[in-house]
Amino acid sequence: MPKPVVAIVGRPNVGKSTIFNRIVGERISIVEDVPGVTRDRIYSSGEWLTHDFNIIDTGGIDIGDEPFLEQIRAQAEIAIDEADVIIFMTNGREGVTAADEEVAKILYKSKKPVVLAVNKVDNPEMRSQIYDFYALGFGEPFPISGSHGLGLGDLLDEVAKSFPKFEEDIYGEDVIKFSLIGRPNVGKSSLVNALLGEERVIVSDIEGTTRDAIDSPYKYNGQEYVIIDTAGMRKKGKVYETTEKYSVLRALRAIERSDVVLVVLNGEEGIREQDKKIAGYAHDSGRAVIIVVNKWDAVEKDEKTMKEFEENIRAHFQFLEYAPVVFLSAKTRKRIHTLIPVIDKVSESHSMRVETSVLNDVITDAVAMNPTPTHKGNRLKIFYTTQVAIKPPTFVVFVNDPELLHFSYERFLQNRIRDAFGFEGTPIKIYARQRK
Ligand code: GDP
Ligand code: GDP
Repeated sequence: MPKPVVAIVGRPNVGKSTIFNRIVGERISIVEDVPGVTRDRIYSSGEWLTHDFNIIDTGGIDIGDEPFLEQIRAQAEIAIDEADVIIFMTNGREGVTAADEEVAKILYKSKKPVVLAVNKVDNPEMRSQIYDFYALGFGEPFPISGSHGLGLGDLLDEVAKSFPKFEEDIYGEDVIKFSLIGRPNVGKSSLVNALLGEERVIVSDIEGTTRDAIDSPYKYNGQEYVIIDTAGMRKKGKVYETTEKYSVLRALRAIERSDVVLVVLNGEEGIREQDKKIAGYAHDSGRAVIIVVNKWDAVEKDEKTMKEFEENIRAHFQFLEYAPVVFLSAKTRKRIHTLIPVIDKVSESHSMRVETSVLNDVITDAVAMNPTPTHKGNRLKIFYTTQVAIKPPTFVVFVNDPELLHFSYERFLQNRIRDAFGFEGTPIKIYARQRK
């Protein structure tokens, strides 16, 4: 189910990132424990009472060399485009400034609910100063203190009142939801058009909420698919839409609603640093992943080119070793037909359940082949393994002492499970639990 999105806007230094970090709190540090990739601190999830939501710090999105006012205008526009509810943040110590009024002017034009926060109200005596902020025209100002963590509850109560109601799972279990992510200009929109333009594609009109009108549902060979966030890919023209942080933001949002993520690369240009970052997000998400090398028509090739390109991919994206690579051209449509079967395949892996008895045979054989590690005279004992979840497939290994299951042995078990069952295109997770 899509989560509501909250965006924080306001001129620099009012405390946006301080509040963002307070709201997402420990979540960010949990995510950063994942080896390999660090998250951009602009988009994360938060929780308040029974509400789960996503939150954007628009202050973290800088728009090239644009002047100060253009920057904050663009940030306010991003909030309007991306959010369900906007927190407009100001600074109680400085009062209403001209820059606040600029932000307000842009927010007036939007129909999105705006909650006005006055930050740096660190003590009760300062509360009398918040009344000036009524002049901004967004109703009651909420005094908060990012430094002391005050007032956040009341602010979030107000924000949560404006959360839209989403219908649960409007697409149904059997529908394969996939998204295309990648740097600007790698050919994502062209690829969507090529897929939707295929013969035998029936573009269906599943009715949804406004938010879902940005998706493209279709049917091919009897299977239903939804391309997530097609509108986000097609929309172009605003100044911020080509910035790196903004494309990361769109990618994260699309990934979240997908089962399968296509990481699109530009075969003509090769692999760039930003590709690795984007691929890292796909991996971290636990979705099934396919690496698509587009613009293959524009590459001068001999019989070795494809193999070399794939080796290059493997070297750069080691964490995505499970992801199949597809070479194609959205422009000439060459090899487009090879993509759909791969989407079907990885989607199947992503939701595959294996039989417990067979799983335990595989683990027993693995242990016989490569004995469990010991530490300070204690040997890891594996009693029993079971699959506890799909999407992605997740396994719990019951052991004598979870500390003894080292990363390298976990990797070994993971590889044995892959060898036995396939799981092509999906990450798999293994957790160790102590048997009681
Ligand atoms: P941003 O540019 O809007 O993201 O602002 P930051 O979160 O980077 O904060 C700007 C400065 O204000 C930093 O030095 C913060 O420590 C400080 N700050 C943030 N919240 C508060 C607060 O509630 N009270 C006080 N006194 N300072 C704060
Ligand atoms: P997006 O920003 O990732 O959505 O990229 P677009 O789909 O807008 O494509 C960017 C540019 O690359 C456009 O000029 C396309 O015509 C071109 N392009 C897209 N796919 C291909 C392809 O397969 N081969 C070639 N040669 N050009 C392509």
